Amino acid sequence: MPTTSGFRIGRILGIPIYLHASWLLIFALITYSLAMQFTHAHPQWSPTRDWTIGTLTSLLFFGSVLFHELSHSVIAQAYKIRVDSITLFVFGGVARISRDPSKAIQEFNIAIAGPIASFFLAAVFYAVTIFFPYTTMPGALATWLWETNFVLAIFNLLPGFPLDGGRIFRAIVWGITKDFTRSTKVAGTSGKIVAYAMIVFGAWYALSKGQWQQGLWYAFIGWFLLSAAQESVAQIAVKETLTGLQAADVMSQEVPIIPREISLEDYGHEVLRTGRRCHLVVTDERLVGMMNVNTLNSVPRDEWAHMSVQAVMIPREKILWAAPEEPLLGLLERLLAADVNQMPVVSGGENGESNNAHIIGMITRDSILRVMRTRAEVGPVVPAK
Ligand SMILES: [Zn+2]
Repeated sequence: MPTTSGFRIGRILGIPIYLHASWLLIFALITYSLAMQFTHAHPQWSPTRDWTIGTLTSLLFFGSVLFHELSHSVIAQAYKIRVDSITLFVFGGVARISRDPSKAIQEFNIAIAGPIASFFLAAVFYAVTIFFPYTTMPGALATWLWETNFVLAIFNLLPGFPLDGGRIFRAIVWGITKDFTRSTKVAGTSGKIVAYAMIVFGAWYALSKGQWQQGLWYAFIGWFLLSAAQESVAQIAVKETLTGLQAADVMSQEVPIIPREISLEDYGHEVLRTGRRCHLVVTDERLVGMMNVNTLNSVPRDEWAHMSVQAVMIPREKILWAAPEEPLLGLLERLLAADVNQMPVVSGGENGESNNAHIIGMITRDSILRVMRTRAEVGPVVPAK
């Protein structure tokens, strides 16, 4: 399942930005090779100057990739699609959006925004080179950046998933066939073809031209793309196993309840006795919060005797709810994004706020994973409709 990995470095437009560990290696490599390149091209420059421009260029490259991802995000947000995070990888980034676009044209516009942004940056840096020749610091920096942004835009337009071009390709196939799953498979397959082609091209380039560094670099990118294409195909498989299922299908109907005034000590006994990991906290038949094993364990054991459940429980207004008809896939993504293990399922009320709303069950991550495993074991699901 997709998870966010890397260091969080900040937040822009309300979107958390993460840096994948691989970025640090690439950052060092780019800075090093740029410094070498500048040393070679400008023998009169001091090493400090080479390294300063190298670092500055790397940082601006980083900014360029971020700008590219933000442009996808802005368009997605314009379609009211929430952007959960942006992660910057080896030679690009991923803007993780909360759901797939509902129309082919939306997907098309979100995807094409990135390459357009990179072309725009290429034009801006190219303009800088007109005013500053390559022998000056801004000129050397802008030359590398316009070329790189240009290559980035072209590379991203290759018609294979998970590149932008793959998404554009998927949107076109989707628009024509009106079949989202099929179009994703087609784009996944073309992604693999693009990846293999890059690996073969890299090997050929290294062997026949003797350009080992360049050749290996192409092959490396191809290999990275291949695993990304395989991952996106695997994600479709996951989606397919959950197709047609709703929260009500897999929720457990028993809803264990505890009073709010009992001590954590007593709650601990209850958990150990029954094996149930999550309870709703009630007073006078009114729901006031939720308590679970994680919350219990967050309190040091020697304080359990003189602390009540009420003091540490998740208060009612902070509980995340599911509706019985909520599709399971979206629900699983919501559970993962919020990093919670269970949600109460509430019927007959918006977010469980109205008076006639009542809790009809509990849904857990485990129960969703169990149905996925079972469906994978039994084989392909025959569509019910
Ligand atoms: Zn992109």
